[in-house]
This record gives sequence, C-alpha cells and structure tokens, in this order.
Amino acid sequence: MRILILGPQGSGKGTQAKRIAAEYDAPHVATGDILRTAVANGSELGHQVRPILERGDLVPDDLMVGLIRERLADENAFVLDGFPRTVAQAEALDAMLDEIGKPLDAVILLRVSDEVATGRLEARAREEGRADDSPEAIRNRLRLYHELTEQVVDRYQLAGIEVIVDGEQTMDEVFADIQDALQVVAASR
Ligand code: ADP
Repeated sequence: MRILILGPQGSGKGTQAKRIAAEYDAPHVATGDILRTAVANGSELGHQVRPILERGDLVPDDLMVGLIRERLADENAFVLDGFPRTVAQAEALDAMLDEIGKPLDAVILLRVSDEVATGRLEARAREEGRADDSPEAIRNRLRLYHELTEQVVDRYQLAGIEVIVDGEQTMDEVFADIQDALQVVAASR
C-alpha cells in the first residue's frame, strides 16, 4: 500500500503513521525525521535546513522534491508523512508516482481543531523540548499549514482518494478508523 497521511501539527500524524507502517509492513517516510537526522548528523543538508526548522518555516520545494524522489525511488509501499506540504510538492509527487506507475492508494486526513493541536504541541514542548516547539514556531507552523498545506488537502479531496478521520479521538480510536478506511481501499483494489 502507498499511503499518504495529512493533518496539522499536533494531529497525531507521526504516531499513526508509525502504526500504519508497522501494520502494513511498509517504511514510514517522515520528512521531518529525515531533516532532523540531517541536523543531528551535522551534514551539509543539516546545516542548510537547521535555521529553517528552528523558525518553523518550510524547506524550499526543490530541495524537498529531490530528497523524496531519491527516498521513494525503489519503494513499492510506503507511509508518507510530512510531504507534500505545498501544491508544488504535491504536483511533483503525483508526477513522480505517475511516471513509475505507482499511484497513491489512499490519503488519510487527520482532522483536529487549532485549539486541540496547539494544546498538544505545548504539552509536547514541555516533555520533549523540540527546537521548533517554541510558541512562535508553533504559531508559524500552524499558519503555514492553513495557508499552504490545506490546498494539498483540497487537491486530494477533489481527486476522490481522501478519507477524513476525526483526530480528536483517542489514539486507538483514530487507528481503528484508519484501519477501517484502509480495509475498504484494499478491498476495492
Ligand atoms: P510538524 O508537522 O510538527 O511541523 P515535521 O516533523 O513534519 O513537524 O516537520 C518539521 C519541520 O521540517 C517543518 O517545520 C519544516 O521546517 C521541515 N519540513 C518537513 N517536511 C517538509 C516539507 N515537505 N516541505 C518543507 N519543509 C518541510
């Protein structure tokens, strides 16, 4: 299965993506994790993106598209998390998958309100101290989600492959809804 998971920061996207990946035995491809690893390793990419991540801004599209092209080249299945975040990235992803005849099977949207998302991010900031969980960076990331990534949500909704799941339920309830949705997708393939 080739699955894309979308949702705002604090929607529980990463947690659910990991569970789906384990269930379907597919790699969890999380662009945020890839970038944070690059920063931690002090690679050239890491140096380049570090200040961008700390502000909660977006890494340039061409850089992200190149990174994903390389990462997905040999994968038949994946759970993609954190990409695409802009329409340009979505167009590049669709073209790339089209070219190799491996379209997305499903797009899962985790829906949560800004209030719930912000509350969860603040709690995470206290527990984990991620560099981009400062109040300013949180606000910036959510703003960019509404400004840019919601257009990606609309795009896949129009394409008719998006399933909306209520992300304000418990983690197990969210996962159960995702499993139900993916079973329907698998049965119709
Ligand atoms: P969150 O969804 O909580 O913001 P992520 O771990 O997905 O966290 O991403 C962390 C940061 O990595 C983003 O704020 C952004 O700077 C960068 N990033 C990740 N994916 C992308 C992407 N597809 N395009 C641009 N920047 C990205």
